[in-house]
Amino acid sequence: MRGIAYRRHTEERAKARARRKLKARWTWTPPEGRPADFVAAQVGMMAATRAPCSCFACGNPRRHFGELLMGERRALERFRSEIREIPDHTSSMMEITC
Ligand SMILES: [Zn+2]
Repeated sequence: MRGIAYRRHTEERAKARARRKLKARWTWTPPEGRPADFVAAQVGMMAATRAPCSCFACGNPRRHFGELLMGERRALERFRSEIREIPDHTSSMMEITC
């Protein structure tokens, strides 16, 4: 397990990446022209979350479109392939409905 120094280092890297992203996003008013506490809060938020908001483009596809997430689709596919591998005498007892 890595220590607190590594976690601080990782957080600093994430915040540096977030600062670069925000600089590119805020083209009209760069970070230098905004209140420092606001910029710090936005950088922290951007560093902590991969999806900065929950609009239809960033948010959970299940909520907006009723789609399954990638992990859920993989799990479902794995489940289906495992079900097919069961020998005939047991699969006759289980109906595959999905
Ligand atoms: Zn969004």
